[in-house]
Amino acid sequence: MCTSKLPLSLAGLRDVVLAGDPGCLCDPELFTGPAGTEPEDEPPGDRAARIAVAREVCAACPVRLACLAYTLRTRPAAGLWAGFTPEEIAVLVAAANRPARPRRSTALRPASAEPVRIAGVA
Ligand code: SF4
Repeated sequence: MCTSKLPLSLAGLRDVVLAGDPGCLCDPELFTGPAGTEPEDEPPGDRAARIAVAREVCAACPVRLACLAYTLRTRPAAGLWAGFTPEEIAVLVAAANRPARPRRSTALRPASAEPVRIAGVA
């Protein structure tokens, strides 16, 4: 899918992801942890290895951008989405919602500031 034409609705994004036949549908436990095991009961080494493999699947996923757009809006509490953990997604959302610093206006430049001259250009 052309990345500049992602749907705006959550349902549309979900449909794009599902139509892409992503690898996470084949092995959900790779992305969520072992069935019947609470997240805190998964040994840390096993979790890290599982997430590393899942990130590789996401890195090659043809619908990762749509998945990321969906994930940033839905903020899932568990699992790995578009290659990111919920904690990483929270950081991305917080950074995106932070107001940008105002642009420095040329009116605020000191009067003594000389414009940059490029050799050979009048
Ligand atoms: S990017 Fe990862 S989590 Fe998202 S659809 Fe693709 S394989 Fe699934």
